[in-house]
Amino acid sequence: MNHWNMDYLGVMVDMAGCPNRCRHCWLGSHRNGSMTTGDFCDIAAQFVNWTDEKGAGIGELGFFSWWREPDYRDDYRELWDLEQRLSSPGRAARFELLSVWRLARDEDYAPWAAALPTESCQITFFGMEEATDWGTRRRGAFRDNLLASERLLKAGIAPRWQLFITKRCLGGLDDFVRLIYNLELHKRCESLGRKFEVFIGGISPEGNGYSMEDVRIDAGDAALIPRSLIDICREGTDLLGQPERVLLESLLYDPSPPGMSANMPSVSVSADYDVYPNIAEPAEWWRLGNLKTDGIDALLKSYRDETAPGMKMNRSGSIRELALRYGNINGNRLYDKNDLICRWMHQWGAEYTGGRV
Ligand code: SF4
Repeated sequence: MNHWNMDYLGVMVDMAGCPNRCRHCWLGSHRNGSMTTGDFCDIAAQFVNWTDEKGAGIGELGFFSWWREPDYRDDYRELWDLEQRLSSPGRAARFELLSVWRLARDEDYAPWAAALPTESCQITFFGMEEATDWGTRRRGAFRDNLLASERLLKAGIAPRWQLFITKRCLGGLDDFVRLIYNLELHKRCESLGRKFEVFIGGISPEGNGYSMEDVRIDAGDAALIPRSLIDICREGTDLLGQPERVLLESLLYDPSPPGMSANMPSVSVSADYDVYPNIAEPAEWWRLGNLKTDGIDALLKSYRDETAPGMKMNRSGSIRELALRYGNINGNRLYDKNDLICRWMHQWGAEYTGGRV
């Protein structure tokens, strides 16, 4: 079955961008734009009106006024209403993502989000204050996370803390556990009838995340993670994965295609109207085309028929060939299997487009 069968498509439009430039961000550091609601409606109309060679359109559509930071614009309420009007019924959902930046600056935001309703909201840490400000590339990000957590709890939303562990933050993990207990997050979420979740996320080595490879932890680093943290993490340390050299033992013989995919078929439209499939980093080798210069028909056919170089490789290349070319047989750094394939795809793409791997 063709995975991109046009029964449903989400369209994420980067109307305002993001206040952060996080070091792990798989979406990279694209330019912040300033699209109007008219621009957003024009883009939506192009997707709604598109038909294929047989005259069939896209079954259902979901339109989102953000791609990176949700609700970054002051008119976020109007944009939410507009998303609902433009989208097929029930298709413009929230994904438990809110703007932490806005939560810390706009007291009315959490109560508004709670009424949508929103039950939990993910907040990202890289350790304690110095490490989190470093990881978010914004001074004050850690304090914003704490204030956002307070405002979420007050509005009846459970904060869910995601922690990225790098070589830089290993020394501060006991303090991180203490912080969770000092804030009584478990107890306060329980009093809302919800569960407090904290988990150790794996860093996807694409977009900005590729430049974090030098601080990716190895098995020796993982042994330094305190038991008190592992015991309260949702998946323990499972998401950290295994050393590259161990994963290579099977991946070197795996003939299947890379097969990167997304939970929800969708495309993103950048501030420059470049359109990317939402299955991997928005890099040149994944680019479907430009909405202004190539037009909607060319880029939707590129999506459907998988003609962008990255999509072709994703479908017709093999894990084995990527492993042979980019695998490090002595690699000790920890990867989830899919993240390792993602790194190889990044290396392949950079080489394909003549960049430095
Ligand atoms: S991870 Fe989220 S908040 Fe950070 S730069 Fe990317 S889109 Fe913005």
